Amino acid sequence: MNPVEEVKNRLDIVEIISGYISLSQAGANWRARCPFHNEKTPSFMVSKEKQIWHCFGCDKGGDIITFVQEYEGITFGEALRILAEKAGVVLENQRFEKKVDYNPFYQLNKLAADFYQAKLSNSDEASIKTGKYLLNRGLTEASIKKWQLGLSGSAWDELYLYLRDQGFSDEHIFQAGLIVKKKSGLGYVDRFRQRLMFPIADAQSRVVGFTSRTLAHIIFAEDDFGGKYINSPQTAIYDKSRILYGWHLAKESIRQKKYLIIVEGNMDAIMAHQAGTNNTIAVSGTALTIEQLRLIKRYANNVILAFDGDAAGSRAAFRSFALGWQEDMNLKILVLSGGDDPADMVKTDKERWLQAVKDSVPVMDYYFKRIVAGVDLNRSDHKKLAVGKLLPIIKFLKSRVEQAHYLQNLSDKLQIPLNILQGDLEQAKSFIDKPAVNNIETPRTERERKEALLLLSEKLLALAFFKPLYLEKIISDLAPEFLDEELQGLYRKVIIYYTKQHNLDNFADAGDLLLTEKNDYIRLVMLGEMEYGDYSEKDLQGDFFSHTKRLKLRKYEAERDLLIAQLRQAELSGDQDRQNSAMHQINLLNKDINKLSS
Ligand SMILES: [Zn+2]
Repeated sequence: MNPVEEVKNRLDIVEIISGYISLSQAGANWRARCPFHNEKTPSFMVSKEKQIWHCFGCDKGGDIITFVQEYEGITFGEALRILAEKAGVVLENQRFEKKVDYNPFYQLNKLAADFYQAKLSNSDEASIKTGKYLLNRGLTEASIKKWQLGLSGSAWDELYLYLRDQGFSDEHIFQAGLIVKKKSGLGYVDRFRQRLMFPIADAQSRVVGFTSRTLAHIIFAEDDFGGKYINSPQTAIYDKSRILYGWHLAKESIRQKKYLIIVEGNMDAIMAHQAGTNNTIAVSGTALTIEQLRLIKRYANNVILAFDGDAAGSRAAFRSFALGWQEDMNLKILVLSGGDDPADMVKTDKERWLQAVKDSVPVMDYYFKRIVAGVDLNRSDHKKLAVGKLLPIIKFLKSRVEQAHYLQNLSDKLQIPLNILQGDLEQAKSFIDKPAVNNIETPRTERERKEALLLLSEKLLALAFFKPLYLEKIISDLAPEFLDEELQGLYRKVIIYYTKQHNLDNFADAGDLLLTEKNDYIRLVMLGEMEYGDYSEKDLQGDFFSHTKRLKLRKYEAERDLLIAQLRQAELSGDQDRQNSAMHQINLLNKDINKLSS
């Protein structure tokens, strides 16, 4: 037994989690208000039997080690050490931490980062020029090292060949996002060429991917390959919505200073650290995700967002603010004037940057000033416009005190009676209520159908995870295509794993799962526990038959619809053979459908 298993075996998840938060028993399981998101009713569940936890509110979940890791904001190794001590398991020092990353994707990204870094310190022309370029931009040698900057060269397959020499398979190198398929479809080439390489690390300081900036026309004469910036794709270990650039280097400082600064570019983050504000991280595209905000929230509740004037009014910025307010965070805005970016500011005058950080203002104040400043008090249409812009934002503020404060201000500034504004506020729609554009485009019925399919697929899998007998039955009876698309990947992996091992005991750790799949798996195991915990054998069986039947019917009916459309086409074009074949298949499907419906 390896030390991880031994620690998990010796400890009880309910006891350990109870040490952090108070759990109450609910049937065979335990529940609490989630420590990772704000909620009034508990949706955080712990299964004693399966030794896992999951929150149905924020969708986090995992085992005993990930709980400690998440709660304390520490690395896997650190969490394991804490738990090993409690369990009385002796870990062989240091060596262990390395062994944890048996996952080839971490190894590959680490090797690639080392490879690019070594290349930057070579003595060839490109390397020397790139080094000079970085110093010119204002970076110190120490920063270049601290952030592990690197260089990808001109050859088509340098990294690829190097990694293969280290014994890695094409498939793994490809899945790690480091190479791309050749246009011809045969063989691979490096994803990154002639680029400045910025390794991206997760909270545990493991390299999970790269972002890169082209050096064409700066160092290399050749034309661009791809865009100015190229990033690693989403991989098993790189989930863009959860990663913040520089987090691993900033987190301690964020914890101490109790606030963080968010900038847009990698260079900006590096230079900000150099100026002493090492509580800075970068997000590309300025829109923060809820996952990122929740990660931040566990360290600090105060966020300063650095924007240039245009970006501050963008949809992405609004979205970030809305999410931040929803999480009860204090958001400030640092406006960069005149096309300045933080990297340039630090380079030319560090003090200006530090002053700009001090001068940042609450987001609401910023918008208030900006919108009200343009109003001509003699014009009613101006006033109307300003009110129309500000009320939806004020409406979104959670605190009534804050709402009242800004309403009063607005009333004073625009010389409009407060009671009129109060009335309008009630009518106003909070700006986040508006559905996103892409939602409008999906017809409602189609969306509902999709949701129903997902729900059904989830329930069936939850049941199968709850009782292996049914897992065997669906594996032999239901191909992955019968489930909702979102769960097909997970289900395929379940089939492969179960067929080999005849159980799912270590599936969450050893099943080669993507992060989203692992999360889905744990969520569905918990769902099974909750939903089916007090079902009788007969009820279980009933649910199983009805769910599989409905899934099959849906699939057959969808196929039939498709064939009917084809038949119409064939009729129109007078293609007799295709008509016959479509008819034949429709008849076969009808038989299946009738059998199921009877
Ligand atoms: Zn939660």
